[in-house]
Order: sequence, then structure tokens, then C-alpha cells
Amino acid sequence: MERLFIYNTLTRNKEEFKAINAPHVGMYVCGPTVYSDVHLGNCRTFMSFDVIYRYLTHIGYKVRYVRNITDAGHLEGDADVGEDKISKKAKLSQLEPMEIVQKYTVGFRDVMNLFNLLPPSIEPTATGHIIEQQQIAKKIIENGLAYDVNGTVYFDVEKFAKSHNYTALTGRKLDELLENTRDLDGQEDKRGRLDFALWIKAKPEHLMQWPSQWGQGFPGWHIECSAMSTKYLGEQFDIHGGGMDLAPTHHTNEIAQNIAYCGKSPANYWMHTNMLTVKGQKMSKSLGNSFLPMELFSGDHELLSKGYSPMAVRFFMMQTHYRSTLDFSDEALQAAEKAFNRLMEGYKTLQHLQSSASSSEDIKALERKCYDAMNDDFNTPVLIAHLFEALRIINSANDKKTTLTQVDIELLKTIYKHFVFDVMGLKTEEEGNNKAGTALEKVMNLVLDMRTKAKANKDFATSDQIRDKLSEAGIQVKDGKEGATWTIN
Ligand code: AMP
Ligand code: ZN
Repeated sequence: MERLFIYNTLTRNKEEFKAINAPHVGMYVCGPTVYSDVHLGNCRTFMSFDVIYRYLTHIGYKVRYVRNITDAGHLEGDADVGEDKISKKAKLSQLEPMEIVQKYTVGFRDVMNLFNLLPPSIEPTATGHIIEQQQIAKKIIENGLAYDVNGTVYFDVEKFAKSHNYTALTGRKLDELLENTRDLDGQEDKRGRLDFALWIKAKPEHLMQWPSQWGQGFPGWHIECSAMSTKYLGEQFDIHGGGMDLAPTHHTNEIAQNIAYCGKSPANYWMHTNMLTVKGQKMSKSLGNSFLPMELFSGDHELLSKGYSPMAVRFFMMQTHYRSTLDFSDEALQAAEKAFNRLMEGYKTLQHLQSSASSSEDIKALERKCYDAMNDDFNTPVLIAHLFEALRIINSANDKKTTLTQVDIELLKTIYKHFVFDVMGLKTEEEGNNKAGTALEKVMNLVLDMRTKAKANKDFATSDQIRDKLSEAGIQVKDGKEGATWTIN
């Protein structure tokens, strides 16, 4: 097994990875809240963990990868006020909450598939684990670290902090947190201003609610991950991941809950991905600067000059280490697309390279460097630099400037297979283009669906505008008995 080093947010150090039950590894990653389409920022986080999952598997671990679907309990803000995001969306669109959940879960899986992410081993939902969440809340009350007031159960942070390091994950000072937290925010029931809800009393009009020993209610967001990680990976497992923005509240509270529940901190290694930014600002739905994957594939966005294939976008993401911020721009994508195409051209050249009796290159050493890069906290940008060295070697041998033995040529093919395809999860141009074709079809279905809805609402200005804009882009829409069809000029 390779010696692998992982940066652990909990200790703020790069540590050698030791799996609890090697070769088995338990990995939990916080999944999407399915109340809207995933944006590219979300995709970056899931893609980073896909590479981590792929590499751990590649070097011989048997990984149980759990990535949940948040379909209940995520309120609009971090404080326990406001509405559940899914209930709110359901009310606005006059749909069942579960219709919202279904729509965006399917959309999320489609996007993950387009970007060639492997499905996790288990994809549990919060609504499927209400009983488990209630049981944990009940046990925390029994252990004296949570209390029930009028049907809402709060975690007692200050009491917990007396005997445990509540802010272990961020290293922040509790006093500062207390100073920076607003007053009780209209939640006079809370004993301390840092207390957070494990179970929340539901008003009668709240759409998603379940019976409990504390009355009708719904779970808090953090407890869902404690319940599902414990259920499928045990009280202690190897890796817990998510975006960096989750560390101060969601993950900090998750650790506190688990310790209060069973006395154990859940994960040995906490891994956090850095943010995808746009002009330096975090990409987020609430800031209104988010890009949807479909906009990227079709190029239909004011900041884009053209569409990009899912594989070019995946390569773009891999060019930066997961712990660094990555700024998204049309120019950066164009450069990534070019580099990706060159790497893939190299693979084609490799297929018909002539061998010689002797070699002027050390391919074995190059392969070692690829492993070393990934063993150093999954350093994909350094890996890519080595792959471009492989490309240089291929092109040079093809130009007859240098020589390679058949063994070296085979080893170069293995390097491509292992690192470009298996670990980075990239696909050849042909496969990528097929996927882009599928993406365009999906985008067109979406657009034509919007147009049909506009027509049904007698909003002919919008339906005509969609047809005209598509025509300008070279796509002709024809209305027929069976609905609209489209062709590219
Ligand atoms: P959400 O659906 O908002 O709960 O987010 C799902 C995942 O995406 C979480 O792990 C977030 O930390 C992560 N995430 C959200 N915004 C970004 C961003 N701009 N860049 C990278 N990851 C993000
Ligand atoms: Zn979570």
C-alpha cells in the first residue's frame, strides 16, 4: 500500500493516513440540499471527493463512501430560525416537498453523471432517517447535554464546552464566538446563544413534519449527518469531508453531537475543500453569481464566450489543489480546454508510437512521481505537471528525437489509464463529446419545456423570445402535433 499523507483540518497538519480497519475505509461527505439545481461550486466539492475516493480505491483500499441527500432540516440560515429550504420552495411552487426533492435529486445525479463522478456506495436521505435522528437527540438529552423547551430540543453548547473542546475543528475561541453571535434571535427558549436545535417544533402550516416524543416537528440539519454517518460507518470512521464553509457550524456541531451521544469524535480525518469563486467571491446561490453546469455546457451565460464539454470543466477543476480557491472565468476555461485536448491528443499518439531497442527516458521514475504527487494530500496540479512530462516524452518520441522501448510505451499507457482515466476520472475526447451531446439535449429539453409552459400561460412574448434567441444561436425550433422539435443549422 502507498504511504499517503492527508491534511487534517482537525489537527491542522498533514498526517500519514492510517485506516481504522485497513484495507476498509469509511468516508462520509455532506451531500447537496436538494431544493435547487447544484451549481458549479457544489460540483467542485463533490468532484474533489470523487478523486479522493477514486485514488483510495486505486491504491487498494475498499472504500465505503457515504454521501447523503439533504431533503429535510436545512433552514435558510445557520441560526435555527426561518423556513426549511425545501418546504419553502414547495410552497412557492405549489408542489409537494417530495416533488421538489425528487426533481433536484434526479437533476443532481444527472450532473454528477455528466462529470463522470462515481456514485457513492450509499446515498442516504435525511427524511429516511428521522427515527435515528430522534434517537440521537433523546440520548443526548439523557446524557445531560441537550434540553427540550416547548417541543424544540436544543444542544447545550456552553455546558458541552466545559468538558470538551467545542471549537476543535476551527481553533476559534469560544469567547469570540459568543461575542460575535447575535442575541437569541427571537429564540428566547434557548439557554445559551450558541445552542443549536436538534429537533424543531413545527408550526401547523409547516409542510414537512413528523411525530416525536416532543410533539410534531422536524430535525435540525446537523443531526442528520450524525445519524447517517453513525448508522452506515459506525461511531468512528476514517474520513469526513465537505466544503470549507461547513467547518465552523455544521461540522463543529456534528462533532459535538457525536461526542455528546456516544463519547467519541466521529472521524479521524476531516477534509475540507476550498471554494470555487467568481471574480474572487464565493460562488453561491444566495449571492446570485452561481453558474449552472448546463449553462456551461451550452455556453448560454453572459460571462461565457462558448460552451465547454464536461471533461474540459473537470480538467479545469483538477488543475488546482482542492485546498486552494479556484477562480472561475471564461479565459481560465479556454486554457484548460486547450490543455485537456493536448493531453488527450497525446493518448492517441501513444497508440501508434514506434518502439526502439533502447530507451532514452526513465518512465518508471515518472510513474513514481505521479504516485508521490497523489500521496501528498491528493495533489492533482502536480500530478498534471507530471502527465505533461509524459506528453512531452510521447511527442518527442513521435518526432523521432528520442526513443522508447515497447515496455516504456506500455508503461506510458498504464500511466494514462491509472492517472488520467481511473484517478482523475477524465474520459477521451470522443466519450466527452458524446456526453456534451447528451448535455445539449438536456439543455434543449429544459428550454423547450420552459417555452411550452410560457405558451400554456399565454406568455407569448417569452415563448417567441426563446424561439428567436435559439434561432440566432443557429437552433431552429419547429412546433408539431407531438410538441416542439429542434435542429441545428
Ligand atoms: P449545499 O447544497 O449548499 O449544502 O452544498 C453542498 C456542498 O457544496 C457543501 O459541501 C458545500 O460546502 C459545497 N459548496 C457550496 N458552495 C461552494 C463553492 N462555491 N465552492 C466549493 N464548494 C461549495
Ligand atoms: Zn453534513
